[in-house]
Amino acid sequence: MASDRIGFIGLGNMGSPMALNLLRAGRDVVVFDISRGAADPHLAAGATWGESASGVASQVDVLITMLPGPRQVEDVMLRQGAAAALRPGSVWVDMSTSSPEIAHLVAGASLDDRGIHRLDAPVSGMVRGATAGTLQVFVGGDADVLERVRPVFDILARPETVFHMGRHGAGYVTKIVGNQLWFSHLVATAEVLTLGAKAGIDVELLRRTIAASPSSSTLIERDIMCVYEGDYDEGFAVSLAAKDSGLAVSLGRELGVSVELSALVEQIYRRAALTFGPLAGEMSPVKLYEDVAGIKLQPGLR
Ligand code: NAD
Repeated sequence: MASDRIGFIGLGNMGSPMALNLLRAGRDVVVFDISRGAADPHLAAGATWGESASGVASQVDVLITMLPGPRQVEDVMLRQGAAAALRPGSVWVDMSTSSPEIAHLVAGASLDDRGIHRLDAPVSGMVRGATAGTLQVFVGGDADVLERVRPVFDILARPETVFHMGRHGAGYVTKIVGNQLWFSHLVATAEVLTLGAKAGIDVELLRRTIAASPSSSTLIERDIMCVYEGDYDEGFAVSLAAKDSGLAVSLGRELGVSVELSALVEQIYRRAALTFGPLAGEMSPVKLYEDVAGIKLQPGLR
């Protein structure tokens, strides 16, 4: 509902612009982050500081979490007491890329028996989409709860890119598998462009040629070009990408589905995080290929 008071926990690369968009849309927002300074722009824009995770939860109708992953979601909701502080009738919306198991654990511990609703609603669209309010949102949970929260999603995303994927957990799964495909594309693209460039072909000509072929992807059409400038997209940390890839591998293990390619891609992401540091950009696996081949992917003949 438009009058719902919103809590927002996790003001990082994604959460910060998302919470700012809610404030700019005139919503009443209470914020919290373990790093107090992360809230400065929000407090300047009229947000209330929540003092603690449970402090936020106790005074809102809709609590949004936008945290790094399952470990932090469990910490905030259970150990820091946000779940126990939520009021009956309120809604917890986890927009983090996390796992269905943790949300289930939180619900079983202190939501279901007190009439507190929940949705999993992770997003795609990078920092660019979070800033522009054009995210894609993958929602798992009851349709009537989604309708209640829809006015909030409509500030963060275009209405046509809020997808109801099914019951609890379906949003997380959609995000995890979609992300994994992008990571696999990234590694495959890095490998073939490095091969072509090493063979002496202008990498930009090669990229455009592949983009016009059946092997195209949005990665080859658009996203990969930032590496020409040495930009490996620090808006999404390689350690978080490795965490996401690990979630895909865990899902395969739980469901008894073999995910050999995902497991290999996860290891490449982990190697990139170890080599370049956890805060390096999500496209750092490209740099692994560049370094091994002794080249830099840049337009022009070698
Ligand atoms: P981030 O690391 O930039 O931000 C996370 C924020 O959570 C930080 O401000 C941190 O201080 C805060 N935090 C961590 N632990 C906390 C705790 N225990 N209590 C309170 N606050 C805590 O991460 P991000 O890039 O904003 O990503 C957030 C989520 O969105 C992740 O699950 C990520 O996988 C997903 N995601 C990111 C992108 C992207 O492009 N960055 C895109 C889509 C989805």
